[in-house]
Amino acid sequence: MSVAEIFESMEYGPAPESAAPAEEWLERHDRRFGPFIAGELRSEASGGDFETHAPGSGKVLGRIAQCGPREVDEAVAAARAAQSDWWKIGGYGRARHLYAIARKIQKHSRRLAVLESLDNGKPIRESRDLDVPLAARHFYHHAGWAQVIDQRHPNWRPLGVAGQIIPWNFPLLMLAWKIAPALATGNTIVLKPAEFTSLSAIAFAELCRDAGLPPGVVNLVTGDGAVGEMIVAHPDIDKIAFTGSTEVGRVLRRDTAGTGKKLSLELGGKSPFVVFDDADLDGAVEGVVDAIWFNQGEVCCAGSRLLVQEGVAERFHDKLRTRMETLRLGDPLDKAIDIGAVVAPVQLERIKALVDRGVEEGATLWQPAATCPTDGWFFPPTLLTGVEPADTVAQEEIFGPVLVSMTFRTPDEAVALANNTRYGLAGSVWTENINLALQVAARIKAGTLWINCTNQFDAAAGFGGYRESGYGREGGEEGLWEYIRPAWELATEQKPQKVAKKPSKKAKGKPAAVAIGIDRTAKMYIGGKQARPDGGYSRSVVGPDGSPVGEIGEGNRKDIRNAVAAARKAGPGWAKASAHLRAQILFYVAENLEPRKAELAGRIVAMTGATAKASSQEVERAIERWFLWAGWADKYAGTVQAVPIRNFTFAVHEPLGTLGIVCPDENPLLAFTSTVAPALAMGNTVVAVPSEAHPLAATDLYQVFETSDVPAGVVNIVTGERSVLAPEMAKHDDLDGLWYFGPKAEAEPLESASIGNLKRTWVGHPGRDWTNSEQGAGEEFLRHAIQVKNIWVPWGE
Ligand code: NAP
Ligand code: MG
Repeated sequence: MSVAEIFESMEYGPAPESAAPAEEWLERHDRRFGPFIAGELRSEASGGDFETHAPGSGKVLGRIAQCGPREVDEAVAAARAAQSDWWKIGGYGRARHLYAIARKIQKHSRRLAVLESLDNGKPIRESRDLDVPLAARHFYHHAGWAQVIDQRHPNWRPLGVAGQIIPWNFPLLMLAWKIAPALATGNTIVLKPAEFTSLSAIAFAELCRDAGLPPGVVNLVTGDGAVGEMIVAHPDIDKIAFTGSTEVGRVLRRDTAGTGKKLSLELGGKSPFVVFDDADLDGAVEGVVDAIWFNQGEVCCAGSRLLVQEGVAERFHDKLRTRMETLRLGDPLDKAIDIGAVVAPVQLERIKALVDRGVEEGATLWQPAATCPTDGWFFPPTLLTGVEPADTVAQEEIFGPVLVSMTFRTPDEAVALANNTRYGLAGSVWTENINLALQVAARIKAGTLWINCTNQFDAAAGFGGYRESGYGREGGEEGLWEYIRPAWELATEQKPQKVAKKPSKKAKGKPAAVAIGIDRTAKMYIGGKQARPDGGYSRSVVGPDGSPVGEIGEGNRKDIRNAVAAARKAGPGWAKASAHLRAQILFYVAENLEPRKAELAGRIVAMTGATAKASSQEVERAIERWFLWAGWADKYAGTVQAVPIRNFTFAVHEPLGTLGIVCPDENPLLAFTSTVAPALAMGNTVVAVPSEAHPLAATDLYQVFETSDVPAGVVNIVTGERSVLAPEMAKHDDLDGLWYFGPKAEAEPLESASIGNLKRTWVGHPGRDWTNSEQGAGEEFLRHAIQVKNIWVPWGE
């Protein structure tokens, strides 16, 4: 082609990045790779090996060893052995190591980017400009956290050994998101990369070794999903961090249920991309390109559902089609291409099958005229219009370069459509009206909202899902919580504290002189009204000597359902109420408890046999806790994150929604208060099952709630047998979270049953001393009562 012809056609010439640095590295290793255990890189493992391919050409890049139980055991043992020294070197020591890793990534960025694009099929432009720099940024940011966390949060400890399992779409970046916070907080690691894309993880392991990271601090086990299962099942692992499909996430929740392993899940998504009629349409078209054609659409937070306001839909689709004609599909190592190859033939088949399904269900398919390369595994950018909200392609994650489009008329309809999904990972809102943008962002249920931008990421801003997109965050201060725990927990494990005030006849001191009538059956408290138990049964509450103290209703499944329905109904109003109002109501509860102190203390004495002094103290403490959580109500709203672009990124603390709370037997009034009050303060509505043995401490509060302006349905109380009521709550799809403070042995079925809607479960650490201000009223309670939504708002013209 002559220069004159090029000038005429403006055709791009090829601009290939050289594969040499990666090829040389592959050759240096004889193209055989395996696990990295105790600082040693191996080329073999007990389960044989498999080929890894370059999706852009279909060629074999090398062989990866399949680990078996032997390697997983060795890796876990190496991580365990290294953990205490890694913790003991302190924050500064860990910061220096993380900084050294960040520097190594930068120095080897070209090789890492080429390797990533070869192995995954993503355009070199993206691996060079996003994956690798952002991976380095995560290590820098967390070097900082290692250094400053003690000042920010006193009295924490690492969890121990973290098992981490990552997907193939951002192999090095997902590794960095997982490893950096775990290392910063003194944990050691066993990580499994995805079988399609293990190479950059191995190159990273080599960099760690060369940077002088102590052996065993980071270990890799290579292989397929079975190796992931071995990590999850391993008894000596304290934490599982998983990024992948919602389907496997559910399996992990079930398999870790009741084990005490902390679990974070970063799962799938079907994120809305909302375009209002006053948006800068050309800007929004570029946004769509970034939202769905970045990384071939193999992005968990891809803006895969376009919602466009009816009046501009046709114009917008026209602009989009015009732009799609210019998208360049081809060799991932070509610097001038926009879309690379799909990771594997099985993924390509899945995309094709879903697109076919969409067309069968009535969607109109549009693809640009340019043909797809035939070497390697490519799928063209695709637009499906005329899609209905319930269609498969509107609900299922396609994980490919396929955009489905729907229209809406009003902002309300846009929000309803945006939230018409089981997922809640991200969303993007386009309008020149900042008021509308912020209002819509506040109403979309998702962990990240981008206003007039999309797919922005940074280590300082947490990332993670609402609903079935999983729980836990990566990045930001909130990401650290996934790897630490309060120091007191360890202390109770080493020296079990006696906290449960078991009914005891030997209790010293005189019972308070308050007569408790036994002629009354306390009802349930549902929707602001006292309600008879559905089954019509009641049970007696007895004192320590077996003498009757009162009667309570025997709650069942139907009572739980009624209570959840009432809590759900009250939810939006309570969440929207100002924090000031919530604080006032909580203060008012305390005020109205004050005149009833003697009666409440007497009730505790009668039920538990605690001394009059201890019971009065419990009441005093409970009143103080209402004050405490009232005080916090307007002081935990979130932060502004320091991301390195022109942007305000708000980490907004939103309530979880409707919470089930199962109270412990001990300290029946104090524990009820200590759990319910922070949940309310943060804007949740609650269904509480009070102490099974001593429930009257909670049922005595009905009148207090009524006279304190607690809106109907905000607190609901169902009494009865914990082992009947708790599983009903765990199964209930309208509860967003479940806090459980009963016997640990009963936690397993609850966490297993939570997989239906992937509700957040918090199984309280056993041996908690509710009277202790850290254990009974720590920041933990606030953290479990909220979820963080990061809203990105760019500024500047
Ligand atoms: P996947 O099948 O769930 O695999 C993810 C990882 O888990 C891989 O390492 C996989 O191993 C391993 N694995 C598979 N079965 C397992 C089991 N039973 N127990 C333990 N580990 C198991 O997901 P994928 O198809 O690779 O990745 C795509 C999904 O990840 C999408 O749904 C996407 O939305 C999600 N994703 C989410 C985020 C986020 O941050 N929320 C980010 C990226 C991707 P093998 O690959 O070796 O089989
Ligand atoms: Mg590969």
